[in-house]
Amino acid sequence: MTTGGRPGGGAAGQRGEAAPFVSPLAALPVEFVGSFPDPLVRLEPALPEIAFIGRSNVGKSSLLNALVGRPGLARVSGTPGKTTLLNAFRLPGFYLVDLPGYGFARAGKAARAGYRQLVTRYLRERPTVAGVVWLLDVRHQPSPDDREMQALLAESGRPVLVVLTKADKLTRSARAARAGELAAALGLEEDQVQLTSIRSRLGIDDLAQSIVAATGDSP
Ligand code: GDP
Repeated sequence: MTTGGRPGGGAAGQRGEAAPFVSPLAALPVEFVGSFPDPLVRLEPALPEIAFIGRSNVGKSSLLNALVGRPGLARVSGTPGKTTLLNAFRLPGFYLVDLPGYGFARAGKAARAGYRQLVTRYLRERPTVAGVVWLLDVRHQPSPDDREMQALLAESGRPVLVVLTKADKLTRSARAARAGELAAALGLEEDQVQLTSIRSRLGIDDLAQSIVAATGDSP
């Protein structure tokens, strides 16, 4: 996984759309470790971790569930109040960490500041972060909140994988065009963003492979 880098290699965005396959993560045991308010919480054992982050409703819980092949693991459309907890899931050799979604329209100033502090400290200071999967809805231009996240991610220097969700909501040609537009809007090459859909399972295998590779590469 490299900054803004292409996941997994292969024909991302094309392969696996119709063919049945199982995410490489789905064969692995997965355990919910807990929900934590402290971005520097020590998880035992210390293992590399991959964090998932994105605007609320972007499809983060759905994608996590699809990746590990457990429909109910991360809560879909989870409780809006729980904006300051990170959820950790342990797989053999690494953790997946679900960071709270951002961009709640009704979130007050204090909640936004608390959120920002959690994510900033997590990204800047946590020693075990091997990579960040940043999710954007393929249909929308990056919001001001997304831009703020982009800046935080860039500043953190963490390896980031950009994932575009809900690709099934667009036709094949429209989604390719949107991937290009979004990549341009983010200052990336088109092949540096990964299209995904939990409905067609587009891109999920590639993403799972990238995650396994990133955690394996990590010291
Ligand atoms: P979160 O708030 O980021 O965790 O988002 P959720 O996983 O709760 O998803 C928000 C909504 O988007 C739910 O109604 C999901 O069913 C829907 N959704 C998520 N991923 C996809 C996808 O790939 N395709 C479609 N069509 N809907 C999706």
